[in-house]
Amino acid sequence: MPDHDKPNWKSKKRSRKTFKTDRAQLVNGKLRLDKPHGAGAWYDIKLAEQPRWQGQLKQVCVVQDADGYYASFSIEVQASVEKRPVLTVTGVDANIGKFDYQTSTGYATQPTLPERLPPLYARIAHYQRQLARKRKVNPKHFNSAAYRTTRTKLKRQYQRVERIQTDLLQKFTTMLVTDYDLIGIEDLDNRHMRMNKRLAKNLHRSLFGKFKVIMQYKADWYGNTLVLADRFYPSTQRCSRCGYVKTADERITLSGNLKHRTGHDDYHCYQCGVKLRRDENAVENLVAYAKSKVTG
Ligand SMILES: [Zn+2]
Repeated sequence: MPDHDKPNWKSKKRSRKTFKTDRAQLVNGKLRLDKPHGAGAWYDIKLAEQPRWQGQLKQVCVVQDADGYYASFSIEVQASVEKRPVLTVTGVDANIGKFDYQTSTGYATQPTLPERLPPLYARIAHYQRQLARKRKVNPKHFNSAAYRTTRTKLKRQYQRVERIQTDLLQKFTTMLVTDYDLIGIEDLDNRHMRMNKRLAKNLHRSLFGKFKVIMQYKADWYGNTLVLADRFYPSTQRCSRCGYVKTADERITLSGNLKHRTGHDDYHCYQCGVKLRRDENAVENLVAYAKSKVTG
């Protein structure tokens, strides 16, 4: 194919190629991109799925990903959302491999590391090693056909991981905003990363970031009250019963507490003597924090 009719990518250097247009239209259920680029395969594109919203098409962003091209639509829709009265409350504590949250009857856990993921992580590591070797062996011309093939294979594994995680996150967050009116979460930073040495840190880091972003927009859509506990709120170190906050050598660390010889998964309050599971204590604290922000 001659290149002259194809759209100009925003940048050739970025691994994720995108271009945006505000002149695209939907014609007879097909996507028509703007004229100057419109020719051949770029004209009247069949859609895998029709847009779910009726409204004005503002912008279309086309992305080249591992296995093909994807178009995402920005559609302007009029919506009125009413703030829900606070009847049900939950708090969500994000950890490596799981989210802990409070239900009406107790505590529940949403795993974020399904069995399908570790083999994919292993493959990612494998292809990354292969690519690194290719760059080392042939530093000046490493962008060969073989290099690009391997890079595409790598991208496909990333894509699969991302799809599994996105699916999981979307279902989990929808459940939260449907079932609970007031939700307390942590304003996540990389604190969690400093606490763990497990595989695939970057993938998890992006998962935490996405969780917060999704919760923010879904709370707007569904009229929930979302309370972000700022990063200095000691949800792990605070006792949810008496409010005592552990400091200095009393703190719970990755290896528990050496001074008192308590474990990483337990919260033993040295003030009131209560013994709780660490995750459940954190969830309780987030619930209390969210409630305190609502009642003022
Ligand atoms: Zn206590």
